[in-house]
Amino acid sequence: MAIQPIRLFGDPILRSKAVPVTDFDQELRRLVQDLTDTMLEAPGAGLAAPQIGVGLRVFTWSIEGVVGHLVNPVLDLSEETQDGDEGCLSIPGLAIDCRRALSVVATGFDQYGEPVVIEGSQLLARAIQHETDHLDGVLFVDRLTPELRKQAMKEIRESDWFGLSGPPTVKVSPHPTGGLGL
Ligand code: ZN
Repeated sequence: MAIQPIRLFGDPILRSKAVPVTDFDQELRRLVQDLTDTMLEAPGAGLAAPQIGVGLRVFTWSIEGVVGHLVNPVLDLSEETQDGDEGCLSIPGLAIDCRRALSVVATGFDQYGEPVVIEGSQLLARAIQHETDHLDGVLFVDRLTPELRKQAMKEIRESDWFGLSGPPTVKVSPHPTGGLGL
């Protein structure tokens, strides 16, 4: 078990595109374990590798008691959408309404390199979209309406953790995200 510091908004790795996993080795399995441990300890509903400083296309989730992971995800989104509060472990304290596809079919691989298909709706679909965005350097504040994005940026600028000197910016758990952090 290895809980890692979670990178916060402002850390450049959160704006970088992660690269596909090519080696399904012991190191990958250690990464999946670190992501899982760190996510559960936060606690959060999902966590992507860049959030713990690793630029690989891997994420985990913990939704309604089910913990999973996905490597090199490719998403097929429903046209039907859902609205609901969304949060991010890299943006502590913020929970804002964010529109997402209602359901998703995600294809990819497990930590052993076996192909997997994950079908989800509601919160699982939201988590999968949020985490896949992290792998592309996209944060959920980018998905908000202009008005809500303005509000979010104001809250971020005013938060006590923002702009702390010295990279990387980290915050010790627990994260005050009300269980909505992804
Ligand atoms: Zn997030």
